[in-house]
Amino acid sequence: MSMATTAPSRRDAQTSSVRPKVLIVEDETSLVELLRYNLEQAGFQVSVAYDGEEAIASVQEDVPDLMLLDWMLPLMSGIEVCRQLRRQTATANMPIIMLTARGEEGDRVRGLDAGADDYVSKPFSPTELVARIRAVLRRIRPALADEALSYADIVMDLVAHRVTRAGKPVHLGPTEFRLLRHFMEHPGRVFSREQLLDSVWGKDVYVEARTVDVHIRRLRIALNGADQADVIRTVRAAGYALDAQPG
Ligand code: CA
Repeated sequence: MSMATTAPSRRDAQTSSVRPKVLIVEDETSLVELLRYNLEQAGFQVSVAYDGEEAIASVQEDVPDLMLLDWMLPLMSGIEVCRQLRRQTATANMPIIMLTARGEEGDRVRGLDAGADDYVSKPFSPTELVARIRAVLRRIRPALADEALSYADIVMDLVAHRVTRAGKPVHLGPTEFRLLRHFMEHPGRVFSREQLLDSVWGKDVYVEARTVDVHIRRLRIALNGADQADVIRTVRAAGYALDAQPG
């Protein structure tokens, strides 16, 4: 790819402008690191504030696309942070998901009353939290939520047409890109060669089924590199699936 040496900085800038920015507000450092890791893997840009005042100062400099806000914070509670942000024009509609160890219905109502868009009780699974973040973004800012697909450590930026695996760029031809997009939109599902031809190449295009195998092989080589696990499963006599599970 001869273009790769001339264009990377511009491409990086484009990509960072479409990856949703999440501000984590949480004082517990181990939880912050867990959240940071999972959100970055899911394709979000992450910044962190460790108390309520820092959160408000950070938001005044740069409004994130979504805030994950812990209820129990030093100096100022999450509820108070939420109320203050809702009174300011710039953040009146910023999506906020509250995190809390409290699981009682009364607390949930108080959190939503203070202006939170959603409420997640600890302990939660990172996968569920990412799904809730996407749901809130989709509801409030549809354009943001649909600009990236992710599966395991693979992130596909649909706007910049850029794919990364474990944070490293993956270079794909146009057919491999469409093929991967189709798999990432239906993870785990097995598609026959004929189904892939219809969905990825189009129903009116005459291509031999064997062509699918050629592009699957190219996709595998590009995605898996030297030492990554193979995420494409070959199902004998049936077809292919995107599937990170061994076997
Ligand atoms: Ca806390």
